[in-house]
Amino acid sequence: MSTPSVSFEFFPPKSLEGSFRLWDCVNTLAPLAPTFVSVTYGAGGTTRKLTHEAVSTIHKTSGLNVAAHLTCVDATRAETMEIAQSYADAGVREIVALRGDAPKGQEKFTAHPDGFASSVELIESLANTGQFTIRVGAYPEKHPEAPDQAADIAFLKRKIDAGASSAITQFFFEADTFFRFRDACVKAGIDAPIIPGILPIENWNGTQKFSAQCGTHIPQVIHDAFTNATRDGTTDLLATALATELCDELLRGGVDHLHFYTLNRPELTRDVCHALGIAPKARLQNVA
Ligand code: FAD
Repeated sequence: MSTPSVSFEFFPPKSLEGSFRLWDCVNTLAPLAPTFVSVTYGAGGTTRKLTHEAVSTIHKTSGLNVAAHLTCVDATRAETMEIAQSYADAGVREIVALRGDAPKGQEKFTAHPDGFASSVELIESLANTGQFTIRVGAYPEKHPEAPDQAADIAFLKRKIDAGASSAITQFFFEADTFFRFRDACVKAGIDAPIIPGILPIENWNGTQKFSAQCGTHIPQVIHDAFTNATRDGTTDLLATALATELCDELLRGGVDHLHFYTLNRPELTRDVCHALGIAPKARLQNVA
């Protein structure tokens, strides 16, 4: 089993304290030599400027390969493509292309009258520029809006065929969930890599809420373990052990790249990577 490649997701800071935390996160995880790091785009397009600033700053100052998340929400096609072009101009050549969720207060995604109606349209336009590596989202436990998994996977195939080169999954807690999904994707003719998204559980209450919203199943054994760990004050230890075990099973099943949802808290992700044997690499600038 060879050492996997890794990538890390951050969100853009909204305050000075948040900026320091993001910077700490980048500095803590950069020595693990990620293939790329990505920066999210606030729900409803709310962090357009902040995402751009965070992406450009990380790109300029860390030397890491940065992927900017971009959604279709609340923007015309021209505005969305202008943002993409500004990334290309800044030397950022990776985009995680998403439809996005409805802005707060609205029930479901409604396309802007002059905007992209779906992620497929966004991916096609980005691909036509010839400037980007495009990654997309995928849902091992089905997107809540999809009628069934077959329809969801058929839609994922349309996203790949439109020009995406890989898909990053929503987080999940059982390796078999990922393996079943990966097999179904292959059967549906998807040959692009499907990268598992790993969420080390930093915040148990938040994870339960978010899992319920996005349809991620939390096995009873994890509920029980967190009840005990919360009582004993050992939740970080448990979260590290669970994520490490999940990653280990994935690697044994042939996965060669792991994508971590860091929530801008680097410690658990760093500890999981270390436990998997992903060691810090000396960077020339640190020894010169
Ligand atoms: P799509 O794949 O385009 O659509 C979701 C599902 O709806 C499809 O799988 C399909 O089953 C169905 N569907 C949609 N349109 C059609 C259609 N025309 N015909 C048939 N079926 C259709 N959200 C943010 O706001 N900002 C982020 O930065 C962000 N980053 C993310 C990163 C990853 C890796 C993932 C997995 C999700 C992320 N999200 C983010 C959440 C994402 O925006 C939501 O899950 C959103 O509801 C779906 O976006 P998508 O591009 O995956 O959707």
